[in-house]
Amino acid sequence: MLFEKDMIKIKFDDLGEIEVQKGTSVLEAAGFIDKKSAKKAIAAEISSSKKGTEKGVLVDMSFILDSNTRINLINPGPGEKSLDILNHSAAHLMAAAIKKIYPEAIFAIGPSIKNGFYYDFELEGNISPDDLPVIEKQMKKMIGGNHAFLREEVSKEKAKEIFKDNPFKLELISEIPEKDVSIYHTGDFTDLCIGPHVPSTSRIEAFKLLSIAGAYWRGDENNQMLIRIYGTSFFSREDLRDHLEKIEKAKQSDHRKIGKELDLFSFHDEAPGFPFFHPRGMVIRNSILQYWREEHLREGYLEVSSPVILSNHLWKTSGHWDNYAENMYFVKIDEKDYAVKPMNCPGNILIYKNSQHSYRELPLKYAELGLVHRHEKSGVLHGLFRVRNFTQDDAHIFCTEEQLFEQIGNIINLTDRMYGVFGFEKYHVELSTRPDKSIGSVKMWNKAEGILKTIIEGKNIDYKVNEGDGAFYGPKIDFHIRDCLDRTWQCATIQLDFAMPEKFDIQYAGEDNEKHRPVMIHRTVLGSIERFMGILLENYSGSLPPWLAPEQIIILPISEKYDKYSVKAYRELQRAGCRVVIDRRVESLNKKIRQSEMNKIPYMVVIGKKEEESGTITVRKKTGGEIREVKIPDFLKYFKDIVYKRKIKY
Ligand SMILES: [Zn+2]
Ligand SMILES: [Zn+2]
Repeated sequence: MLFEKDMIKIKFDDLGEIEVQKGTSVLEAAGFIDKKSAKKAIAAEISSSKKGTEKGVLVDMSFILDSNTRINLINPGPGEKSLDILNHSAAHLMAAAIKKIYPEAIFAIGPSIKNGFYYDFELEGNISPDDLPVIEKQMKKMIGGNHAFLREEVSKEKAKEIFKDNPFKLELISEIPEKDVSIYHTGDFTDLCIGPHVPSTSRIEAFKLLSIAGAYWRGDENNQMLIRIYGTSFFSREDLRDHLEKIEKAKQSDHRKIGKELDLFSFHDEAPGFPFFHPRGMVIRNSILQYWREEHLREGYLEVSSPVILSNHLWKTSGHWDNYAENMYFVKIDEKDYAVKPMNCPGNILIYKNSQHSYRELPLKYAELGLVHRHEKSGVLHGLFRVRNFTQDDAHIFCTEEQLFEQIGNIINLTDRMYGVFGFEKYHVELSTRPDKSIGSVKMWNKAEGILKTIIEGKNIDYKVNEGDGAFYGPKIDFHIRDCLDRTWQCATIQLDFAMPEKFDIQYAGEDNEKHRPVMIHRTVLGSIERFMGILLENYSGSLPPWLAPEQIIILPISEKYDKYSVKAYRELQRAGCRVVIDRRVESLNKKIRQSEMNKIPYMVVIGKKEEESGTITVRKKTGGEIREVKIPDFLKYFKDIVYKRKIKY
């Protein structure tokens, strides 16, 4: 006989409510309402049924319910949670397959990562990429076997017994505070894990093992080196294929490769991590900066420039000495100590302090394209993405507290507009709060964090909070742009700072003629010009829109006969301000066309008999399509519209 107290209320977000007996699984409870939905789901997110009382916890479909619960079923699909669970399950499956082939393998950890998973393990002898298909074959076999991911709760003692030959798992078990731990069985493979997983191996529809790497146990170079195999898994073959295509495209659009092919920049042993820009690279860079200056002029910024080397004394006052020294370079001049600037703030503050300021001047917006140097370990250097010197598109806004809202709002609008011009329509925002190493009082920090939060929420921007990730002098909002391969890049940052004005004792005269302390906003839009250029090159695979392209037009005479007319056309375009080149080499036209395609020049002008006779040019666009036999002034009208308006599509 059933008593009322044995019944619990289960509320599904999508399926409605039901009363079930205590001890019913999520799968069963969902099945009572809708068998199909229950079978489809891969896991569930549960919370106590009182709304907003508890954060959702992810559990298996086999999870046993013993109190009133709210359930959100996780269905297969492109969502972050479902892909996480799938990839994590695939990591178990891969480990199970490896264990079948290499019974002596000892497994460490196997998490899901963005768009994939890996597993680290110890193995005598070597594994090469040629072995991956063998492991994949074994995985497919186990998918066919439809093994359940069975959860079991065991005491720590029992777990230690089960994993007695695995020093990695023993170390992990010893760090778990709870009395019991959970283990999962997949076929005859057992792993220590908190879960959840998909119900069974057959739910891993599509997967691929990608690469092998070495990895230190717990990422510590003093520890043992393990073998790491990376893979990726999706709910459909189409999604997997799309993702693999993206990986291939990312390899092809690596900015280091493009930089070499297009002769844009280089690196040399004589200056590791310090980029050299070649003439073509400088054209791109200057096109970015010219646009940047136009926008900043319109927004009322005043451009300044401060020195690269400044006295240690200044860095002690700014707090960089205590909080940032490990990233800085130091030099001696006339027996005195100086540091190479890692940031532009103190320099800008000295300019501010050089004269008296009144409330009428505020907000005062100093912008500086400042060359900063930061020490990076040689192992992390990566093309233009991670360098030791870069140009920040920095600005420091001195304003009153009342002006903060409007100023930060303006920066967000400016950022949004500029990203659109570069072709980045999608971005997301993150708010970073007080780090362990920080200056200023907690009260000041709370106030600053509150202001930033109110502004983002007021603009209805979705954001994520990164606890403890702020700059040492203030909280910040970071913008992460999304490129055409769905990768994200942190670029813009807006940092609120009540601390540095205090440290440097900067002031302005208020309406009351009294001295007041301004607030400082530190901000960048593009971040590092070098890095932003790398992002642009990868986003466009080197085929930059005409306004950014180092060479916009190339003229290809069909033969020497048309040289004279070609040179005339060349001069006319050049005088009109086009970045134009002419290829007069004695080569076949096909070869010249191939060459200019490789150079990713937006417009190719082919000149032959017809064009010479009619005094026109025929223009082929890199993006496809041609403009046939057009008079040069008419072409220029079209061209200037594309370039001056900085259009992405042409
Ligand atoms: Zn697991
Ligand atoms: Zn600053």
